[in-house]
Formats: sequence, C-alpha cells, structure tokens
Amino acid sequence: MALTRFYCPTDIEVGANIRLPAAAAHHALKALRVQTGDRLVLFNGRGGEFTATVTHCGKDAVVVGDLEFRAVERESPLAITLAQAVLNAEKMDWVVQKAVELGAARIQPLTTSRSVVRLDAGRAAKRALHWQNIVIASCEQCGRNRLPEVAAVAALPDWLGQLKDQATRSAAAAELRLLLLPDAEASLRDPPPPDQKLTVLVGPEGGFSDDEARAAATAGFVPVSLGPRILRTETAGAAALAAMQALYGDW
Ligand code: SAM
Repeated sequence: MALTRFYCPTDIEVGANIRLPAAAAHHALKALRVQTGDRLVLFNGRGGEFTATVTHCGKDAVVVGDLEFRAVERESPLAITLAQAVLNAEKMDWVVQKAVELGAARIQPLTTSRSVVRLDAGRAAKRALHWQNIVIASCEQCGRNRLPEVAAVAALPDWLGQLKDQATRSAAAAELRLLLLPDAEASLRDPPPPDQKLTVLVGPEGGFSDDEARAAATAGFVPVSLGPRILRTETAGAAALAAMQALYGDW
C-alpha cells in the first residue's frame, strides 16, 4: 500500500529527527490516526522525497526519524500554465485540484469581463491561501514532490499585456499559447507541438467577449476547440490538460 505523504516545508536531513509542522501533525493525528512505528513519506517541495518512521506521537506533535531520501520526480516534461477565469469557490477548488493532478506547473486565476465572481484584494488574498492549501493536499495525494505555483489573481487585459511584453522582449515566444474557444476552427493537434512550455487559457461560464478573444490572439494565443460539445468551464481546462499531456507531455 502507498505510504501516506506529508508536505513538510523545512530543511529535511537524513539522520535527523523531524517534527511535523502543526497542520500536518494535526492531520496525521486526528484524521489518519498515525501511531509510533508507522511509515510515511515527507517532501519539502525542493525535489525528491523522504521515507520516514514515526518515532513519537504526542497530543499535538508527531516526530519522525529513520529518514531515507528517494530522488523521485513526478513532474511533466511540459511546463503547463493553466490560466483560468475565476469560478465560484467550489468549482475553482475542483479546477485547482485537477490541475495539480494533471501536472500543471502553474495556475493563473484571471478575472474577465463576464466573470461572475468578483474578488476584492482581501478576498483574493484569502482565496490564494486557500488554493495554496488545495495544491499541497493534491500534491500529497498524487505524489508530486514539487508544488505548482498559484499566481496572484490578475485581470485578463493586464495579464495579456504582460505576456505580450515578455514575448517581444525575450524568447518566451517559444511557448505555445492556446485559447480554448468552442467555435474555433483548429483542434488541439493543429498548432505546432510545444517545445517545453504551454499555456492554456480557459474562459468563464459565459465565455470570452470578442474583444478578449482578439486581445488574446494579439498576445500570441491560438484559438482551439475541444470538439463539437460545449464543456463546462471546469471540464474544459482539465480535458485540455489531459489531452496535451497525452500528446506532448507525460506519455
Ligand atoms: N457560450 C460560451 C462560449 O461560446 O464561449 C460557452 C462558454 S463555456 C461554458 C466556458 C469556457 O470553457 C469557454 O470560454 C472555453 O474556454 C471553454 N470551452 C468549453 N467548451 C469548449 C470547447 N468545446 N472547445 C473549446 N473550449 C471550450
């Protein structure tokens, strides 16, 4: 049976005893009921993972020792950014979780002209922290040893403007940028294969406005369709990621 994994964002040294961070210890004790002698896996987000044995369980503390390093990586060779119009809390949580499982390297939440969800700075910061915790839980579950980044929420025009600047200043043009648009004529297979970087831009429930689609095209995005059926926005990103991984990434 696979060992339970814990994110432990500290220096981890073979030969040392490590006290799990408070949140991980709480989860280990209350939800997973770990006991002295149990084997588990720690990772700190810097690559690789450590097998360990629980040497002490207290009321609020879990200490592990007997650490062994395994240089295991489960990252995709394709660095995928999922740029997703922000959705309501539950759907966005699902999008973040699936993006991690499907190997996205970065998630960029965006506000668009038809976004229903509006976030002021305070709420955006709270949601960012919440999404970060979903990333951690997903990495614990799916075996990734490096945490994908969740970028700060940005307005679509600002974000596209930054991308356009980057493309004119540097070699960022080597990146393939796909705009998911239900009535696009091209399919995912039509653009030239991405080299190492791919960005997939997904609209809100009401789709992109014509102006937004034009601005994305100006920033180098190729409009592509996922087929004749309109997918829910939370399905569209996951479907595109799975397909692109199958075509050019993990397999
Ligand atoms: N009537 C809207 C439109 O035409 O854009 C439908 C929006 S759809 C529910 C939400 C988002 O999911 C879209 O903005 C698009 O990014 C993506 N999407 C859904 N189905 C798609 C498809 N078949 N091909 C490409 N993208 C799709």
